[in-house]
Amino acid sequence: MDINCTKEERLILERIAQVAKSLQMPCYLIGGFVRDKLLGRNSKDADIVCLGDGIILAEAVAASFSPKLNVSFFKNFGTAQFKLPNGFEVEFVGARKESYVAHSRKPEVQNGSLVDDQNRRDFTINAMAISLCPSDYGTLIDPFNGINDLELKIIRTPLDADITFSDDPLRMMRAIRFATQLNFVIEAETLAAIKSNKERLKIISQERITDELNKIIAAKTPSIGLDLLYQTGLLEIFFPQMVTLAGVEIIEGKGHKDNFYHTLQVLDNVAYRSNNLWLRWAAILHDIAKPATKRFEQGHGWTFHGHDALGKKMCTTIFRQLKLPLNEHLKYVGKLVALHLRPISLSKEEITDSAMRRLLFDAGEDLEDLMMLCESDITSKNKLKVRHFLENFELVKQRLKIVEEKDKIRNWQPPIDGADVMRIFKLPPSREVGFIKTAVREAILDGIIPNEYDAAYQYMIEKAAEMGFEPVV
Ligand code: ATP
Ligand code: MG
Repeated sequence: MDINCTKEERLILERIAQVAKSLQMPCYLIGGFVRDKLLGRNSKDADIVCLGDGIILAEAVAASFSPKLNVSFFKNFGTAQFKLPNGFEVEFVGARKESYVAHSRKPEVQNGSLVDDQNRRDFTINAMAISLCPSDYGTLIDPFNGINDLELKIIRTPLDADITFSDDPLRMMRAIRFATQLNFVIEAETLAAIKSNKERLKIISQERITDELNKIIAAKTPSIGLDLLYQTGLLEIFFPQMVTLAGVEIIEGKGHKDNFYHTLQVLDNVAYRSNNLWLRWAAILHDIAKPATKRFEQGHGWTFHGHDALGKKMCTTIFRQLKLPLNEHLKYVGKLVALHLRPISLSKEEITDSAMRRLLFDAGEDLEDLMMLCESDITSKNKLKVRHFLENFELVKQRLKIVEEKDKIRNWQPPIDGADVMRIFKLPPSREVGFIKTAVREAILDGIIPNEYDAAYQYMIEKAAEMGFEPVV
């Protein structure tokens, strides 16, 4: 076998072959492992297809280890898998033949030959097998010339593309996902079939669509996939808000930038700087409210006032719609979207310490990520302008660092909180308590008083007196 296996991979494959031989069960490596090894990529798992019962083979291989490996299996699908101590996963399945009925993505399944099994695979590059049988161990079995498509960097369905996508519309998302991850081109007929079958995506659960979407977003250059989703019409089906970003309107000879392609550029810029999936989501959503807030002001031009605050609200709707987790990840993305204009505006104005302190306080532990998002948001075609902005931005970063070191404002709690106010003035929880507490915090952030208990206490007494409250302790 002239594919680039690690020593551990070689050993497990030889062991599987040995056990299969003793069971007289022909078996083959298939799918992603074969593809990735031929491409010289690492793989975290391998799929084995056998002519017989995959569960029996998996159990027998697992039992050959001491201690025996734990096998988990899905009887309904006839698949079984185990994980090696080094984390590598192997999945076993009996070769099968599938036939689809309309209106469902659940096929009728029967036992089949290796070729039947290869026929049901989604793409030529995913249908290649390598024999683990004693007679032809290591031979590539490639009925659709997937190796050629690997060389040409092409995603193509083995059989009729229309039928392949109509049978299982998730494959359309997978086509775009592989094109993005591998930087391959989708062959013309396959691409046309995605466009004409886009409505079929509606029979797929949102969770599975979002799984593929997240894999696209996690790729090195996510814009490839998002642009394909847009061009094929799939994006419109599950994420219409993003499609609304596309296009340019011109009034009085003034246009605004195409916010869809701007967003893709920001996303790629963020992806270049960080692997954090949620920071990438913040890039996707940072301007999502621009269409809804767009106005043309006579003599001035296009404005998008409030797109930061509305954008944050839209994050919740979109996370719900896409079945993304409604937990701290949503909170983080919403926060970055709400704050994404703040560092940029600092780089334009005279920078005051109090503006810096405010940003440090509001961004807290997510400041570095916010700065990454904002730097990525500078996408003008004018190179000089970009350089100028980035230089200003560098200045903001340095000043932030100085203020942070001096004031330790990040993750900061004001010296006086609501409980103190209630105790000192013997007040019940009320608007007044909130007002006094906020006044103290703002005075510290604005630099009116130092960040110390005594000064804060004095200031609180003054503010409360203006409202007619006297301390009772
Ligand atoms: P990766 O693991 O990197 O996502 P992969 O190719 O291994 O890539 P899997 O989802 O693990 O993808 O699937 C393993 C194999 O099963 C694929 O290579 C393909 O041959 C087949 N396959 C998976 N999903 C489908 C599908 N929806 N339709 C047809 N074949 C599929
Ligand atoms: Mg896989």
